[in-house]
Amino acid sequence: MHARIMGILAAAVLLIPACAHGPRAVGSDALFQISTINALMLGVYDGDFTCGQLLQHGDFGLGTFNGLDGEMVVLDGKVYQVRADGIAYAVPDKTGTPFAAVTRFDRERVEALSAISNIETLEKEIARMAGNENAFHAIRIDGRFAHVKTRAVPKQEKPYRPLVEVTAHQPEFELHDVEGTIVGLWTPQYAQGLNVAGFHLHFLTKDRSRGGHVLECSLVTGTLAIDTCLDFRVLLPDNNEFKAADLGQDMSEQIRRVEK
Ligand SMILES: [Zn+2]
Repeated sequence: MHARIMGILAAAVLLIPACAHGPRAVGSDALFQISTINALMLGVYDGDFTCGQLLQHGDFGLGTFNGLDGEMVVLDGKVYQVRADGIAYAVPDKTGTPFAAVTRFDRERVEALSAISNIETLEKEIARMAGNENAFHAIRIDGRFAHVKTRAVPKQEKPYRPLVEVTAHQPEFELHDVEGTIVGLWTPQYAQGLNVAGFHLHFLTKDRSRGGHVLECSLVTGTLAIDTCLDFRVLLPDNNEFKAADLGQDMSEQIRRVEK
């Protein structure tokens, strides 16, 4: 009897709709990040966290791998590694990551897109739909692309050079008339130094064979989905390289160069 009443009460609680003035649930829709972009900029390319652990915190996101061994794309609960040959590889759970951000992707808002001729126009469309530049947003675009230009950072050997030196000689790839998915993040300006302020887009082909960090793209037709994250969590590395890095400096200009 008692259990039955409890069950009814529990059902009643579940039926109460989410209210703008009610208490918010915490932890269900977080953007979960490993380390900081400034640490990566300064050559902290080895972390103490694995891709298997990362997947416990989200099924969608981006980052890189220990040794700066390529571009990470996390899509539909799988981690892909686009290495310096432009090919996407499946990643064992034990592979380490020095920098990544993931969330459990919810298609909160969905909109059709067509005939977008360049990345600037695409980013304007995403920003208009997101409508809140002070929140974090996960961005997913499934579609047919007339053109996607990507890059993939090459694996580094110690002693590590800063990221701005590595990307000065980055392999770049041109994909034409290709179906695939853009996996992106929007980071608010105030979080520069933690992650890349503004847009950061990675790409994976529909057959999951190629991709990389997006430098340019034009879309024929596609579907844009946005998941806004009002909960942002950072796990800091526990190693000497991170401890010693001068993370307080303004690296905005170097980050802009690295992302182009
Ligand atoms: Zn990237």
